[in-house]
Amino acid sequence: MKYILGIATIFIGAFAGCDRATPPGQADLVLRNGRVVTMDPARPEAEALAVRGDLIVAVGSEGEIDAYIGDGTRVIDLEGQLVVPGLIEGHGHYMSLGASLMQLDLRPARDWDEIIGMVADAVDGAGPGEWIVGRGWHQDKWDRAPEPAIEGLPTHGRLSEVSPDNPVMLVHVSGHGVFVNARALQLIGVSRDTPDPEGGEFVRDEQGEPAGMLRESAQDFARAAVAEYRSRRSPEEIEAELRRQVELAGTEALANGITSFHDMGESFETIDLFKQMADEGALPVRLYVHVDESSEVMAERLAEYRMIGYGDGFLTVRAIGERVLDGALGTHGGWLLEPYSDLPRSTGFNVIPVAEIQRSAELAAQHGYQMAIQGIGDRATRELLNIYEGVFAQHPDQDDFRWRIEHCQVIHPDDLPRFAELGVIFSVRGVFATSDGPWVIARLGEERARDRGYLYQDMFRSGAVVINGTDPPVEDIDPIANFYRSVTRMMENGSVFFPEQRMTRSQALASYTVNPAYAAFEEDLKGMLSVGKLADITVLSQDIMSVPEEKILDTEVIYTIIAGKVRYSGGK
Ligand SMILES: [Zn+2]
Repeated sequence: MKYILGIATIFIGAFAGCDRATPPGQADLVLRNGRVVTMDPARPEAEALAVRGDLIVAVGSEGEIDAYIGDGTRVIDLEGQLVVPGLIEGHGHYMSLGASLMQLDLRPARDWDEIIGMVADAVDGAGPGEWIVGRGWHQDKWDRAPEPAIEGLPTHGRLSEVSPDNPVMLVHVSGHGVFVNARALQLIGVSRDTPDPEGGEFVRDEQGEPAGMLRESAQDFARAAVAEYRSRRSPEEIEAELRRQVELAGTEALANGITSFHDMGESFETIDLFKQMADEGALPVRLYVHVDESSEVMAERLAEYRMIGYGDGFLTVRAIGERVLDGALGTHGGWLLEPYSDLPRSTGFNVIPVAEIQRSAELAAQHGYQMAIQGIGDRATRELLNIYEGVFAQHPDQDDFRWRIEHCQVIHPDDLPRFAELGVIFSVRGVFATSDGPWVIARLGEERARDRGYLYQDMFRSGAVVINGTDPPVEDIDPIANFYRSVTRMMENGSVFFPEQRMTRSQALASYTVNPAYAAFEEDLKGMLSVGKLADITVLSQDIMSVPEEKILDTEVIYTIIAGKVRYSGGK
């Protein structure tokens, strides 16, 4: 009788349009009794799905999917929870995320004094001469200004007092500057006589002495010293630490429902480690890795490193990223067409010279790589569109570039339609609108902030592809918080940052699923729940597409499934 019912179900399934390519047989995993949002226009919603091996074999109603349940099937009753395609972090820094989980987290600090206290505690536990590294501070997020202050930034005096012998490097939340103490300045040989490097500056006090802040390219002095200190460890110690970073970043991603991660820039050396770990089956999430090397080095090695779906689809290398044309708005580094409203002497910085980016773009076209370069200010975005347009014109034989511009925080209205025209992808961080919102109007002025800043809805309307992500470790990897910020533009202070640019919930979900799949040339594999796609699935505790706005943040990740395997389970 049971058998006959099974047959009947198959027929009903076939005629009801059950999305099924293989005949029912035992599935390895069935998710049932849920609300499945597939992102597949042919069948946008379902109640259940079946997985065999690493693929989805059926998506349908409860009755349709029951036919796939056998003795060896793991059946998960979702009790009405929400199933969405595995979430894709569209722009993050995988190894930095891992490293950040091993450093002082300065984000919760409410003022400069708290940071000094945290460093003082770290000094107590540090070895002689050991570098103390922290990250995540932002002067405009403090409850009160530091005293004394230069251009809103602290001076190193009291930091140097609590850590006289240990060099200290505190990375700005934007990653576009570091703050150091006297011992560090001494080690890197920076004094009042040191000229500012190209593309950066040493912030100085009234006497011309370095005050501690190293903006943009000036931070390289301190970063190089930390790297040099760390390189003195044994190769075994170094590899063990790198593997720990991979694991920590993976644990963090999985706990947040992330199944694929667009890693915006790693060296060939790090890619070698990823490859080795992919061979061992030890990569925790799927990585879409962008190469970050000089064009000189890339010219020699890009061809040998291009790999697609390596290690059972856990490692793809086919893009050039991280490389930054300009700096961040928080550090007055974003390259603008007109000067900063609150720093009229400056239009920001061109960090990596236009000519070098141009060379990288030519190499990318030559070797079949995608470009994903950071353009934050409206000048930077325009320069990048010009470079991309020029290279596309030189390669009329290629018609599927899908090149990206990262962040796109300030865009001149004349440049907005150029993305769709050129097929360039908007790669935005929804959460930046609300974390920058409280101070960015001072940087840009009200009118420019409204007309050119964080134009998410205009981007979708322009017809170009928009992808999302949080730039971890710059912001928490949390896709739920980012979804909430993207659809509400509600800032911590309770006001809404230009509500006309809010994403709809469908747009926000697309920006985490189908769109980043497309941006990685993986739309045949990922981004929607349909037959034949990879069984990369995220289960959430409640329906973020319909719960009241103020409830969205209560959502928990219940399961993170990659290739049909449950890699994280949480919730109550
Ligand atoms: Zn980034």
